[in-house]
This record gives sequence, structure tokens and C-alpha cells, in this order.
Amino acid sequence: MNFNLRKKMPYKAISGIGEFGLIDRIAALVQPTLSAVPKLLTGIGDDCAVFQPSAELLQVATTDMLAEQVHFDLLTTPLKHLGSKAISVNVSDICAMNATPRYALIAVAVPASFPITMIEELYIGMSHAAKEYEIAIAGGDTSSSQSGLVISVTMIGEVSPEQITRRSGAKPGDLLCVTGSLGGAAAGLKLLTREKEIMLNHLENNEPYSKNVMAELKEYSEVIQQQLLPLARIDIVRFFHSRNIRPSSMIDISDGLSSDLQHICQQSKTGALIRERSIPISSSTRRVADEMQDDALTWALTSGEDYQLLFTISKEEYQRITDNKKISVIGEITDQEAGVHLVDIYGMNIDLASIRGFDHFSA
Ligand SMILES: [Mg+2]
Repeated sequence: MNFNLRKKMPYKAISGIGEFGLIDRIAALVQPTLSAVPKLLTGIGDDCAVFQPSAELLQVATTDMLAEQVHFDLLTTPLKHLGSKAISVNVSDICAMNATPRYALIAVAVPASFPITMIEELYIGMSHAAKEYEIAIAGGDTSSSQSGLVISVTMIGEVSPEQITRRSGAKPGDLLCVTGSLGGAAAGLKLLTREKEIMLNHLENNEPYSKNVMAELKEYSEVIQQQLLPLARIDIVRFFHSRNIRPSSMIDISDGLSSDLQHICQQSKTGALIRERSIPISSSTRRVADEMQDDALTWALTSGEDYQLLFTISKEEYQRITDNKKISVIGEITDQEAGVHLVDIYGMNIDLASIRGFDHFSA
């Protein structure tokens, strides 16, 4: 659009409404298409769309895009790791429906000057991850790009109508549980960003940068791994299926605990109360936070990319999974009027509605 013309027209930039404001507007525009397909049971607003091809089986579908300089920096991200992560983040959304991933379609836009070997590395990473999750890479598309590498993965999974878990089923009194630990991916990103700045400083001053970044970061390998190579919790979904457990609601933590908990509460029309002392944060994450004079709890609440599962379950059902040490109870679902709160270690009550998670379009 001509810039002068644009200056005269009143317009509002996407950054003014944020990512979720944008999704709301898109949802309103596509709403009329949903009723044309009665077998489509769930559209925008959950981790996956849900389609019912037969009485016994539901199909779930999700798509996730990774864009250079938005989601990753090639200076600090090995292509193999990136390929694996592109698969894992989609598997994570399928897991959030208590479903089993089956196959993926992959589209990449790549600058024509890119070395072929780098794209091969990317697909080696994807294939490796696909094998681990027992899914097939069944097709895709390639395009050239004028502005860096973009990877878009679409994934299809399956689940029975008895096992499907949405964001909307939480009930007051249900326990809130989370898998693994939180904040590690943010700690890893902080370290990688720090290392990149040191490297760029050396280059700017024409000083040799001889140290091996990965060797240097070895003592932090746990959190670096959580950032570069997150693993979707398919182990937890398999555990639920083996015990015939269906959580009352579930989401994967991609935008931070605060945001993703609020998604469950909005969809379920409930409130929630979580306790800071129950939120699992690893000692390595706390150590990095101390070193950087930052706050590990803030990372857990507001930084994305942990890809752990947040779910709710009735107190009776929970008795059947207490032996799984990868699951922590962090609080309880309350009435909607009570809001969504965190009780910190000093007993202070903090309204989580005031704590924002990751937003791609925030100014
Ligand atoms: Mg999700």
C-alpha cells in the first residue's frame, strides 16, 4: 500500500489489539464456515480442531509456524534441533487433546541462497523427531522466501470420543496439575541470547571469537536443551490411556502458565487458585535466574515454550495417578467469580489477569 495513502486512512495496527485480539477477529470472520460441516465438533479456541469422521473415532488437527527472528535465531539454533522442535510443538498440541499424533504436512519458505545441506539438516531433525513420536511426514510444500526461513507444520492425530479432552471441561473443586517443570525454556533462551551478544560484540570489535559456545554452555545443558529441544509429553498421554484416565480439561503450556491457565478458566467458565510453592521449577532454572538477577517464577508464569501439559482432574480420579512423579498438583479450580489467582510464598494473593503471557504482536 502507498505509504502516503496509508497515512491519510485511519487504521489500527495489529500491535494495538495483540495476538489474542487478532485471533478473536479472525474467529468472527470464519465462524459462518463452521456450520457447513456438521462433523466439525470444535473450531478455533482449543489446542486442535476436532472432526468426527465416524462414531468411534475423532480426528484432531493443528498447525504451528516457526519464523526466523521471531521464533528462532540461526546464530544460536542448530537446524537439526529446529526441525525436531517444529515437530514437537505440534505433537504438544495434539497431546493437549489427550490424542495420539499420526501424520504431518510440512511447508517451508526458504531464501534461495540457503545452503542445501542446512535444509537437509532441518529435515534430518524432523525425521528423527517423527520417528521418536511414531508419526509419518506425509507431504508438504516448499517456497522461496525474501525474509528468512519460515517453517509451517500441520499435524493430524486421533482419539476416541471417550478420551478426548478439551480446555472447557474443568469444574470447581478439580485439582490443577502440571507435568515436568516450568521456566527452563526461558532460562535457556536467556543464556543463548547472552552468548549471542558476546559473540556479536567480538565480531563488531574485530576480535577473534574462538570459544566453543556449546562447550561453554555445557554446565547449563539441561535448560539449553529445554529451549532448543523441547519434548512433547506424549509419555503422559500414553500413561493416561494405559490407566484409562481422562482429565476434565487440558492445554499445553506454550505461552506461559498464567496465560494458558486463563485459557482453561475462560473456556471452562471457572476461576482457579494456584500456589507458588507448588509450581515445579528446576534447580538449574533457579540457578540461571539467580545468576541473571531475574525471577524464575516470572519465567514460569509468563515465558512460553515449556510445552508441559496443564490439566485438571477430579480429586477421586487423581488418586489413580498419584504414583506418577512427573505430575505436580499446583492448585485447584474455583468458581468463576473468584477469578484466577496465585498465592505467593509470603501468602500474598496475586491476580493473574494482570500478568500477561507471550504475545507475538505486543508493541
Ligand atoms: Mg496449545
